[in-house]
Amino acid sequence: MTTTFPAMVISDENGSHRAALTQLSLADLPDNDVLVEISHSSLNYKDGLAITGKGRIARRLPMVAGIDLAGVVVESRVPDWQPGDRVIANGWGLSETEWGGFSRFQRLKAQHLTRLPAGFSALEAMAIGTAGYTAALCLLALEDHGTLSQPGEFLVTGAAGGVGTVAISLLAARGLSVIASTGRTSEETFLKSLGASGIIDRNTLSAPGKMLQAERWAGGVDSVGSHTLVNALAQTVYGGAFAACGLAGGADLPGSVMPHILRSVALLGVDSVLSPQPRRNRAWALLERDLNRNKLIALTTLAPMADLPKLAEEIVAGRIRGRTVIEIG
Ligand code: NDP
Repeated sequence: MTTTFPAMVISDENGSHRAALTQLSLADLPDNDVLVEISHSSLNYKDGLAITGKGRIARRLPMVAGIDLAGVVVESRVPDWQPGDRVIANGWGLSETEWGGFSRFQRLKAQHLTRLPAGFSALEAMAIGTAGYTAALCLLALEDHGTLSQPGEFLVTGAAGGVGTVAISLLAARGLSVIASTGRTSEETFLKSLGASGIIDRNTLSAPGKMLQAERWAGGVDSVGSHTLVNALAQTVYGGAFAACGLAGGADLPGSVMPHILRSVALLGVDSVLSPQPRRNRAWALLERDLNRNKLIALTTLAPMADLPKLAEEIVAGRIRGRTVIEIG
């Protein structure tokens, strides 16, 4: 087996977090039950924050970055996982408290692994990655609330990003009318190819607005937060709902209770990191059923680990389109 291998390691440099490609050996890895050979990982907004140091994502150092991974079990001390099993891991504190996926090998806790759905290759699973799986969790939240059976338009904010692109594809797969809110109106053709029936400029949602506005949205998926989410809620029809998972536009929520108490609008919070295993399995089953593979490929770019520093800057600046898969193996 390979004696040393590259990993993106975050370490302390004069009180700041610094990321660098570093050679590790198996002896450096944590003493967890399952050794996985990683073939692919993916780039998420949180990875961008961790690698650029713009967010203190790692809560202990040194830390191997990467909140996603897909690979094959090489060794296991538990019966649930056997050599040759194809696995993925998303969240669970990877890159925060647990060493993550930007590494050729990783030792992981058995309970942090999910079986790779048979219908997906490792590359496809990472094209989905945390962003796509979070989009699926948002769909589940809307489905469980009964929103997806409501007539009307659905809004997806942060539309050209990782969560947004997959959310558009999944909503469109249900035959719903999807409006994409984006700052990149030049991406109209791309967003429509994913299934959006129209686009709006994100500036129309990003300024402070009235507490209640003309009703438009049956519901939607928001990865932007702040005034964008507040305006979306203020424009939601009676009984509608938004699934909110992100803060690309800000972590604040400067709104009012009016849409909630006068229109029974629901704000459904979605966390992917600690989502329990049965819900993860449901989200992956939904992706396996509804995500068009051609659309998945259309929204995916491949990159080597060496490109991570540059890509991290790009995703934090909101310049990454769709999903970026990192080839590890
Ligand atoms: P991306 O960077 O791929 O996409 C974010 C998109 O948001 C951008 O592409 C851009 O879309 C839009 N955006 C960026 N900056 C701004 C801004 N200042 N104002 C308004 N819109 C903006 O990130 P992801 O899709 O991977 O993640 C999106 C968000 O979801 C992040 O905040 C991330 O932390 C969060 N997240 C949360 C998870 C959870 O468990 N709750 C899991 C995964 C992600 P456009 O160019 O189309 O306008």
